[in-house]
Parts: sequence; structure tokens; C-alpha cells
Amino acid sequence: MGEIIPAQAALQQSNDSPKRTIIDLTHPLVSSEVPACDGHPKYAVHCLSHLSRGDVATCHSLTMGTHTGTHVDAPYHFVEDGITVDKLDLTLLTAAPAVVADLRWKKAREPIRWEDLGKYENQLRDGVALLLCTGWSSNWKRSNYSEHPFLDVEAAKKIMEKGVRVIGLDTMSPDEVAEEGDTGRVHRIWLGDGGIIVENMNGLERLLEVSSEADLRVSLLPLRLVDCDGSPIRAVAWKEHP
Ligand SMILES: [Zn+2]
Repeated sequence: MGEIIPAQAALQQSNDSPKRTIIDLTHPLVSSEVPACDGHPKYAVHCLSHLSRGDVATCHSLTMGTHTGTHVDAPYHFVEDGITVDKLDLTLLTAAPAVVADLRWKKAREPIRWEDLGKYENQLRDGVALLLCTGWSSNWKRSNYSEHPFLDVEAAKKIMEKGVRVIGLDTMSPDEVAEEGDTGRVHRIWLGDGGIIVENMNGLERLLEVSSEADLRVSLLPLRLVDCDGSPIRAVAWKEHP
């Protein structure tokens, strides 16, 4: 009987606890519909076997790069002796307190400066993931997707000074993407100092409704790709005390 009672109590507890709402911040990966930078592979799914064809099981193979869809950049992306994605500090990417900056008023190719982040300054500290919400993920798959607002280099340095090591964006890059491609300026500073960048996040504006002091958490976990520079992730957020 002693074993039954705790089990019943646990069941009762799970019935009583409010259901946690998970907010998915990941772009769906659909064959041939995922924007890719020049030189990066186009995402594609290939069916290897299928139950409907009488095969014993359904299996697919994938064509993708380390920067396909919603993904993390590890320091090794821009720094030759930087940390590779399999060695990233997972404490920074698992249930991390998130601060969401509302920057939806920023226009195409407009820099995000430190002054724009002033009201979030007190929340920036070690262990926090700073998410810059420009609303640009609604342009995913449109021709203007690369014309997003971008982070000013001096602002990036200030954010790092506050102890933040994870920055997430709803754009393809924290940097300006010019005709010639990504300027790489913020990439070099952020990754050069051991930081992690999360790109192509989806629907960050949904977090502005639930965001409150120290209550919002995010998990941004990469695959354990040995000696690689980045990895697709499933980015999720939730309110710690619903
Ligand atoms: Zn990347």
C-alpha cells in the first residue's frame, strides 16, 4: 500500500497543476521553402521508404546546412579556434531567463542602437537570453527577408558588457546583409567573445504579451554536431509560473 499512495498523490498533483503553454519560436522546415544564404544548401526532404508503399517503416533523409532555418551560431562560425556547437554551454541554452526587446517599430535596414534597448538595461545580466523582436519573421520566404533591421556594433558590445552571452533574433542575421552579403561585424564581436547567436526565430512578438520580469524562459538546444559551427534548433518559450 505504501507504494500506491505516493503514486496516487503524484497523479493528483499533476491533475491539479496548471498546464504549461509552450510557445514554439521555430520556423517550420518545408522542402524547398526555407530561405538559405548564398552558398548554403537548400533544405530538402527525401522519402527513403514509406509504409504506404509496403515498406517496413517510413524514413526520410534530409539535405540541410548548419545554418538552416531557426538555428544557433557557435563561436567557431567566425573564430578559427572558437568553441564548436557540440561544446556550447547548455546551461545558457536550457530554460534560460529571456528578456524580449520590442523593436517592431524599426524599419528595413535600420540599426538597433543601445539607446533603443535602454528600458531593458536593468534586466540584462549573466545567463539571460536577450531576444530582439523586430517582427521581421513575418517576411520569412519574402524577397525582402534579408533587408531586416540590424544590431549596431556598439550596442552589441554594451549588451555583452552586461554579461549576456545569448542573443536571439527574428532575422537571418544580427548584422546588416548588404548586396555583397553579411557584413559579419556583430558576428565577429559576439562570437569572438564566446557568445552564441540564435537566428531566424519565429513569432517573437507572441512573447511580448507574456513577458514579465524574470518569468519567461527559453530553450534553444542544438544538435550535438561534433566539430561544427552551428546547428538547427527547436526554439521554445514558456512562462515559468503560469
Ligand atoms: Zn547562422
